Amino acid sequence: MTLLIDDIGELLTNDGPPLSNAAVLVDGERIGWVGPSAKAPAADRRVGVDGAAVLPGFVDSHAHLVFAGDRAAEFAARMAGEPYTGGGIRTTVAATRAASDNDLRRNVTRLVTEARRQGTTTIETKSGYGLSVDDEARSLRIARELTAETTFLGAHVVPAGVDPDAYVDLVRGPMLAACAAYAKWVDVFVERGAFDAEQAREILIAGAKLGLGLRVHANQLGPGPGVRLAVELGAASADHCTHLSDSDVDALAGSPTVATLLPGAEFSTRSAYPDARRLIDAGVTVALATDCNPGSSYTSSMPFCIALAVREMKMTPTEAVHAATAGGARALRRDDVGVLRAGARADLIVLDAPSHLHLAYRPGVPLIRTVLHNGVLQ
Ligand SMILES: [Zn+2]
Repeated sequence: MTLLIDDIGELLTNDGPPLSNAAVLVDGERIGWVGPSAKAPAADRRVGVDGAAVLPGFVDSHAHLVFAGDRAAEFAARMAGEPYTGGGIRTTVAATRAASDNDLRRNVTRLVTEARRQGTTTIETKSGYGLSVDDEARSLRIARELTAETTFLGAHVVPAGVDPDAYVDLVRGPMLAACAAYAKWVDVFVERGAFDAEQAREILIAGAKLGLGLRVHANQLGPGPGVRLAVELGAASADHCTHLSDSDVDALAGSPTVATLLPGAEFSTRSAYPDARRLIDAGVTVALATDCNPGSSYTSSMPFCIALAVREMKMTPTEAVHAATAGGARALRRDDVGVLRAGARADLIVLDAPSHLHLAYRPGVPLIRTVLHNGVLQ
């Protein structure tokens, strides 16, 4: 079964310059052909989109969707002047441990559906609100039902009342062993009050030995060793990158490690944004992601993050859309998403707008007209 999407006013492929008067052939779950309408091949079905813009589905490479409860009151208190410390994670841990499998499954499903309606066709999600062997393993088992991009984040915080060194031994030993079958990645929150570089190194190396790829929560709340560790260990991504030294930027620029920026976190904690311009100008590959979680960034909207990146992080609209699609794919080391070319997954968005520029130009407006995921209309 083939479908020709035709009359595309602006087609962003991330595989060459944008095309106008273009068409895309969807062949089952894959893109079959991309090019000018005048040269479009025959198809079983044809749909015209009246000059709308079409682009790859968003790749949200950083989210924390397996949790229970919300922290709206904590958000309100923060907006009234209380600082963000990361300590509220333990509130979510207690709610998550108390939730049934079905409650967790319902919540993840709701958030994945919410994200998809806003154009996200690939979403990564982490554990990290269980912090026990059984609760981390079930978080990942449930996440795996909804996405292939699952990340073991047992090293999110040290649970209350637990000795930090004993907890690191648990994470890199029995917890990792129980979780590895459900995870593609391993991640550590490297931050004062969470895990230091040596603890993170032990956990990441143990994960790599079990075949997991590496990601690092790095340099979010202050300067630190996270980015350097991510680069040294060949992590796919260093995430947050809010407080960087010149040597951190140089290290990223000379490496395949992507800097994943999460402006929803700075928005929701009323903090200074990372300097995307500095990273891009230095030659660093940048991804944009939501960091969707109940404490510091409870948004699943990639268009919102694009608008923030343009307004607050001095990215151009085109750079921000690229970071939210191709950048996210790089951060997940995927070459079959974030791009529209023959052979790639048929994951694409039709906008209620003539250009991708409108995603930043018209913030807060529901511009996602149609989402195709694996060739299926959502
Ligand atoms: Zn995060």
